[in-house]
Amino acid sequence: MHPTVRFAPSPTGYLHIGNARTALINRLFALQHGGRFILRLDDTDTARSRAAFAEAIVEDLGWLGIAPDLTVRQSDRAALYEAAAARLKRDGRLYPCWETAEELDRKRRRQRARGLPPVYDRAALKLTDAARAALEAEGRRPHWRFLLEDRAVVWDDLCRGPQHHPAAALSDPVLIREDGTCLYTFTSVVDDADLGITHVIRGEDHVTNTAVQIQIFEALGHAPPAFAHHNLLVAAGGEELSKRKGTLSLRALREAGYEPMAVASLAVLIGSAEALEAVASLEELAGRLDLARLSRAPSRFDIGDLAALNRKLVAAMAYEDVAERLSSLGVGGGAAFWQAVRGNLDVVADAVGWWNRIVGPVAPVIAPDDRPLLAEAARLLPDEPWDETTFGTWVAAVKAATGKSGRALFAPLRQALTGLDHGPELKLLLPLIGREEAIRRLGGTS
Ligand code: GLU
Repeated sequence: MHPTVRFAPSPTGYLHIGNARTALINRLFALQHGGRFILRLDDTDTARSRAAFAEAIVEDLGWLGIAPDLTVRQSDRAALYEAAAARLKRDGRLYPCWETAEELDRKRRRQRARGLPPVYDRAALKLTDAARAALEAEGRRPHWRFLLEDRAVVWDDLCRGPQHHPAAALSDPVLIREDGTCLYTFTSVVDDADLGITHVIRGEDHVTNTAVQIQIFEALGHAPPAFAHHNLLVAAGGEELSKRKGTLSLRALREAGYEPMAVASLAVLIGSAEALEAVASLEELAGRLDLARLSRAPSRFDIGDLAALNRKLVAAMAYEDVAERLSSLGVGGGAAFWQAVRGNLDVVADAVGWWNRIVGPVAPVIAPDDRPLLAEAARLLPDEPWDETTFGTWVAAVKAATGKSGRALFAPLRQALTGLDHGPELKLLLPLIGREEAIRRLGGTS
C-alpha cells in the first residue's frame, strides 16, 4: 500500500497547533507507509481567503519539516467542480432550491417547536413547474442541494472504529450557493477523488461531513477513501482553537522560540498512548503514531508541556545544530559555551543572556563578610591555560586556605563570578570568563 493523503487548510488565518496535529498525522502516516502527502489549499471562499495566509501556511509547514509532494489550490480547479455538478444534476442528485435564509430559519424554528429535528423538508422537490417559474420571475436564483439517499452510511474509521450514520437525521447539504460558488463539502470530494486520495485523515469535527461526503463519492461513481478522524486539541481552558482568531498559532510559538520538533512532538504525542517526549525527527515520531490508539476525548494543550519538551530538546542539541543561530544572535564561545549553558535554557535565544554573563559586565551582590574569602580566592586563581579541571583544583585550594566549604564557599563564588545565585556549572563557565575578568569580578586586582 502506498497511500496518498492530504492536508486541506483554508487560507483564512495562520495555522495553529491543532492544524499542525492534523498536518503532522497525515505526514507521518505517509512516512510510515511510503506514501505521498498533498497540500490542498481550500481557497474557494474568496471573501475570507488570502494569498498571504496561503504563503504563511506553506512556510509554517516548512518550519515543521513538512514539504508537500504536491500543492494544489481549489481556486484553480473550478472546471472539475462544474463537470461533477453537471453529472449530479443529470442524475437527479443535485436539485435546485429557492428558499431564502430567513425562510429556512423559520422552517427550522417551527420544526423545533414541534419537537422535530431541523432537517430540510425537501419542499423544493415538490414545487410545480409554474411555482418554480414564478420564483425565477421574482429574480431569485437557486442554490443546489445534494439528494441524500435514505440509508445509513457506514465506514470503519481508522481512529474511531466502526461508524454508522443514518442519513435520515441529516439535511440534504447545499453544495452550490446562489452565486454559483461551490461549498467545501462538495469540492473536497471532487478533489479527493481526482487526486487519488486513499486516506482522509482529519479532525473529528468532520465526522458528520464524512457521512454526507461518502454518499457524494458514490454518486460520482467513486469508491470512497478510508477515513480517520482524530481527536481535537483544545486550549488549556477547554476552548476550541481558531485559525481566524489566531489562538496558539505556529507563528506565535515559533516567535516565542520553541523548536519545531518540540511543537511537533507535543502536537502528535498528546492524547496518544505514547509518553510525552521530545522526539528528534519526524521519522522517529512516525514510529510512535498509531491512529487506532489516539485518545477519543479532546486533548488539552498545556504551554507548560511544550516548555518542558523544548528544554529537553535544547539540552540535547549538538553545537553544530545551533552554531549558525548562535552566531546570528551574537553569541560567541563556540562549542564549550554551548555545552556549558544548553542545560539551562528554555529556548535557544536564552543563550544570549548567559553569553552576556560571560562577557560582562556583571553586577554581583556581595555581602561584606564574603569579601575576604573572595579576595583570597582571587589570589589563588591558577595561571592560564584553563580547562574544566581548573575550577576543582582552585576551589580545593580556596577551601584549604579559608576553611570554608559547601554553600558558604560556592554561593559567594557563583554570585561574584556571574552575578546570579543559580546557573550552569561553574567549572564550565570559569574557563570562558578567563583569569583577568575572574579576578576583577572577585574583587581582586590582576
Ligand atoms: N478545509 C477544510 C478544513 O479546513 C478541510 C477539511 C478536510 O480535511 O476535509 O476544515
